[in-house]
Amino acid sequence: MSAQLETSQQLSDLLKQHRKATDEQGVVDVDTRKRRLQTAIDLLVDHHEELCAAIDKDFGGRHTGFSLMNDILGSLGSLKHARDNLEQWVGSESRQVFSPYDQMGAQAWVQYKPKGTVGIMGTWNAPLFTLFSPLASVLSAGNRAVLKPSEVVPHTAQVLAKIVAECFDPLDVAVITGGVEVSQAFAGMPFDHLVFTGSTEVGKKIMRAAADNLVPVTLELGGKSPVIISETADVREAARRLAIAKGMNGGQLCISPDRIYVPVAAQDEFVSAFCETYSALYPTVEDNPDFTAVVNVQHLARVAGYVAQAQEEGAEVVRCPDVPVPAVGRKHPLSIVINPPLLSDIMQQEIFGPALVLLTYSDVKHVVQEINQGERPLALYYFGEDEAEQNYVLNHTLSGGVTLNDALMHAAMEEAPFGGVGASGMGHYHGRDGFLEFSHARTVFKSAPVDPRGEWGMLPPFSEHFTPGLITQVTR
Ligand code: NAD
Repeated sequence: MSAQLETSQQLSDLLKQHRKATDEQGVVDVDTRKRRLQTAIDLLVDHHEELCAAIDKDFGGRHTGFSLMNDILGSLGSLKHARDNLEQWVGSESRQVFSPYDQMGAQAWVQYKPKGTVGIMGTWNAPLFTLFSPLASVLSAGNRAVLKPSEVVPHTAQVLAKIVAECFDPLDVAVITGGVEVSQAFAGMPFDHLVFTGSTEVGKKIMRAAADNLVPVTLELGGKSPVIISETADVREAARRLAIAKGMNGGQLCISPDRIYVPVAAQDEFVSAFCETYSALYPTVEDNPDFTAVVNVQHLARVAGYVAQAQEEGAEVVRCPDVPVPAVGRKHPLSIVINPPLLSDIMQQEIFGPALVLLTYSDVKHVVQEINQGERPLALYYFGEDEAEQNYVLNHTLSGGVTLNDALMHAAMEEAPFGGVGASGMGHYHGRDGFLEFSHARTVFKSAPVDPRGEWGMLPPFSEHFTPGLITQVTR
């Protein structure tokens, strides 16, 4: 079989071979798991230049420094953390046996078994991270994997397919490339678990397709991550940190700040401080290698359309840096859209690009109510020094994760789960939580040599004392 996969028939044949290899292998020992993780680490270290160049080409402008930080180092962080900690995760755990069997020598434990083969569908915005970070958890749990890179970044997908085929045994990790039809076929394959990173809309289709084979899914989806700037916040510092976060990848991050709630009195100070930082980071746009382009014309038109519609409907738009929108190319200055109408697209759709919404408020409880009227977001950010208010926000909202007094940071925690809730997804990866996500927790009960049930009158034919005896145990 060719190591590079392009058709669903090839994938189907490979999955049969994976299943046979899994059944024959039995235990996947720590050394095997570490070897697979190390292969992924070596692959990224050896080929980072080629991979970053491919990402730059696909985006039509993405700085190598950002690709190194986000995709190479981000993935290496997850892989090394798994390699260096999995020994503490893999062992069986003994569990307390119920009475009176505990007294008779019965034993019980939970084994964390590899599920088998996990399909991982990545997205274009973080084309390596969304494949390799879940892969770290998948391999630490002893699974095999097939990766499906996004067709929106075809050069990256091709380079990745080539180097994975060179470095990995396809029975450990393989890549399949192709467009939406291949993704559709992929989602309908009988994997033992499927990880999908992408939009909420496509996530629903993935779950429907996976249901046909009862394949469990981890869905890493998007949403409109809100930011609350408290009256107690240092507004200038909050604006500075948010400008840094929003500039990352040209706003094309799943946890990018999407709408920012600012106290009415702080609006001007916030906008001016935000633009000051953003314009210092990106004094120019069109010719600026530090500025990440929007990935393609469709996404550019989508984001520009949101901004134009809101402006037509009366919203104020501030651009930073304050330069004209270039006629050509896909690098546009950031648009801050102030108080757009509730039903405008920019208020309803995830922005995922160089724009954000600024909403002024006078009561933080109304802000929480408004957030709760929408779908559960992937991230939530709160800036402020009032601990009671901070706890109010934490206690009355639900989101995939939270960063306080900054943005994006919680997602970099290898020791803590990363994932969404509700419309922003289900399941998670990173660390021990990721290991558990891709393991089957199998309970094993080992019986005691003696079986006292007959002697105790617990077996038919039941004596006249059997039911009254049980009734005495129906207690609170
Ligand atoms: P998308 O959902 O539009 O597309 C994702 C992939 O789905 C595509 O590459 C395509 O091949 C496939 N696809 C399309 N239709 C399909 C179908 N019917 N069946 C099976 N597969 C199908 O998302 P995108 O544009 O690639 O990525 C942007 C989205 O991803 C945003 O919503 C963003 O928030 C989210 N995202 C989430 C995370 C996270 O970790 N939660 C990370 C990055 C991006």
